[in-house]
Amino acid sequence: MLDFQAILQEIEIEIQPYLTQGKIASYIPELSMVEPTSFAMSLMTVDGQSYHVGAHHKRFSIQSISKLFTLTMAISLVDEKIWERIGKEPSGSPFNSLVQLEYENGIPRNPFINAGALVVTDVILNELKDAQKSVLNFIRTLAEKEDINFDFSVAKSEALTGFRNRAMADFMKSFGNLHHEPSRVLDAYFHHCSIAMSTQELCKAGMYLANRGVQPWLSEPILTQRQTKRMNALMLTCGTYDAVGEFAYRVGLPAKSGVGGGILACLPGNFSICVWSPRLSEKGNSVAGAKALELFTTKTKMSIF
Ligand code: GLN
Repeated sequence: MLDFQAILQEIEIEIQPYLTQGKIASYIPELSMVEPTSFAMSLMTVDGQSYHVGAHHKRFSIQSISKLFTLTMAISLVDEKIWERIGKEPSGSPFNSLVQLEYENGIPRNPFINAGALVVTDVILNELKDAQKSVLNFIRTLAEKEDINFDFSVAKSEALTGFRNRAMADFMKSFGNLHHEPSRVLDAYFHHCSIAMSTQELCKAGMYLANRGVQPWLSEPILTQRQTKRMNALMLTCGTYDAVGEFAYRVGLPAKSGVGGGILACLPGNFSICVWSPRLSEKGNSVAGAKALELFTTKTKMSIF
């Protein structure tokens, strides 16, 4: 029987040299207001045991990890129809790239790059009108935490500087792949990205990804087993942007990262795991976070491969 707590503690020590590598995201100015060497890691097994190290209560900006929850909502609302408007191939380009969109007629490569998440948000708006609040409520339900909230200063900071996302939204609108006004879609999207959660809360919220679509503490499944398998496939192939091959090679888990420095990953049938450290690689993934996950799968010999 593995001693998960001891393994996390070993990782917390071994990770120290990595905490000073990489750069905090500053293109959203408010994201740079964080202690750069912060570190937290949380693990929750499908039988309900939890293990934590570091600042696991500290909330940070989930940023693109929100794309997991918005896609989950969109899939449970419209299921396969979502793929009429978004691809499911790795992009091989940065998460905020515009080039592919032109020659692929406004159809984003996958739901985990920014353009894809904007279309996902538009789909939720079609079905639910208040995309902002319904996503927040969904996350609160998943994590069983009513005080999870938007960080309005982060949302505002991104609204003031999110020129690329605005360009993408306008561009997709010109191809007819956004049904709502770009400004409305962007506003909801920036709020989704601004949601603040701890590793402990994210790990719990993501349990259904490890547990065949089921949050054990909720009466209804979140996704079917088949939908969950597909979410995991997308995380593995598209969840860490144009570093996805390297991430699968080193870590071997389906995962989703965000520029707030968080990474949520899982081993289907076994556990969900979340790590946070704000300094990022060039590709926008947490340097210490990816290393900590690599150490975890190496030490436990638990990965999908
Ligand atoms: N809000 C960020 C953006 O749109 C999310 C990007 C990310 O986490 N990779 O640029």
